[in-house]
Amino acid sequence: MKARLQVMKFGGTSVGDASCIARTAKIIIDAAKECRCVAVVSAMSGVTNRLIEAAKQAQAGKGTEAAKLLDALREQHESALSALISKEPDRVQVGKKLGEVFAEGHRLCEGTALLRELTPRTLDAISSLGERLSAPLVAAAIREGGAASEAIEATELIATDAFHGGAEPQMELTRQKSEARLRPLLEKGILPVVTGFIGATAEGQLTTLGRGGSDFSATILGAALDANEVIIWTDVDGVLTADPRLVPDARTIPEISYREAAELAYFGAKVLHPKTLNPVVQAAIPVWIRNSFAPERPGTKITPGGRSIGGGVKALTAIRDVTLISVGGPGIVGLPDVVGRTFSTTAEVRASVLLISQSSSQNDICFIVSTADAQRTVEALRKEFAQDVAHHNVEHITMDPNIAIVAVVGENMRGIPGVAGKTFSALGREGVNLIAIAQGSSESNISFVIEEKAVKAALNTTHREFELGNTSA
Ligand code: ASP
Ligand code: MG
Repeated sequence: MKARLQVMKFGGTSVGDASCIARTAKIIIDAAKECRCVAVVSAMSGVTNRLIEAAKQAQAGKGTEAAKLLDALREQHESALSALISKEPDRVQVGKKLGEVFAEGHRLCEGTALLRELTPRTLDAISSLGERLSAPLVAAAIREGGAASEAIEATELIATDAFHGGAEPQMELTRQKSEARLRPLLEKGILPVVTGFIGATAEGQLTTLGRGGSDFSATILGAALDANEVIIWTDVDGVLTADPRLVPDARTIPEISYREAAELAYFGAKVLHPKTLNPVVQAAIPVWIRNSFAPERPGTKITPGGRSIGGGVKALTAIRDVTLISVGGPGIVGLPDVVGRTFSTTAEVRASVLLISQSSSQNDICFIVSTADAQRTVEALRKEFAQDVAHHNVEHITMDPNIAIVAVVGENMRGIPGVAGKTFSALGREGVNLIAIAQGSSESNISFVIEEKAVKAALNTTHREFELGNTSA
């Protein structure tokens, strides 16, 4: 029988400093007593941001500033190294490795400063340095704790397309490479510590999977190795019923389905990178979210079916940096193709539309985009409909940034009548004004648009209405 295999990922805060790395190493060593483990690690928290800043400074020609940023990062990593590793040979060897990665960073920034040009490929090379630094530290900390471990760069394992800054994995090749490189280590009882966030094209060019992509790295490797489970170790207890900063009653959900988790990730709950679940859906590999600062807590298990609770509503989430755009006026009733023209315009400016609502009187089409895309979208729409506005067929093209979307998520809401009714009467009682409503055809979410200032009230009243704080579920 093949031994159980776990892929466990540790985010930036879980490797944030020497004591966090030591805690992480202990979690890995303990888990490895029970089963085989592959660890995937993020950069130490904040490091990727600072690397990107260094890249931008270099692009602006400020090579010295970039070098200073790198030097500060070097100090941070070296002090973690000396705090963690007491054995002289390992400290020297890992110190040398860190030195090599920093030398590469300096060369990349110098080249960028010289050319004042930062290509997506170079940005990937610079922003990936953080993982290439944290993985050797974590592997060394595991060795310090008495277990065999080796740091591995995911360029050797994860094959991707060449879309820098958001590469897609090529699973077949990834499977072959990961098996060939990792299986022998596992068989020898050596714990691999793999850099998150990174892959490489078939030609060996380094790519990144997008910000927050280490979660995705973990599930890619989980699928590639046919792991029994993937555990995302983070700094929160799991997936919560709502953001606890807004809803004091929020609690951890014990089990949730892939679809629910994806729905929550899409609607802005920051626990998971949105692509995280894609690789594991087919093989139905469960994914856990657990707190590395409180490993005794059970966390949340994400499974194909989830486990239904109460009224089928699992969680609430809100997206705030969004803007409502509306195109309308009585004249649009007779205009052919207003909807088509509106959305081909949003597509042209690459604004991604989060929610759409059109009233049946057809007086008004309103939709929501992220605030960063709003101005551009409205300008493009004003251009597209310039003639119609001049002839008063379209009376207004307006935007309102003071709004938010709240989504009620739960796969088993499907077929349970009255979820929408309950939600809206709770909101009515609380005096929350609904601006627009949408229900996905999957019926696993109902979203509504409200004024931004009502978000807290809306979340709390809906949370109470569905008894989400009730621990008996
Ligand atoms: N270090 C990368 C980032 O900050 C990837 C990750 O942490 O998941 O985006
Ligand atoms: Mg993350």
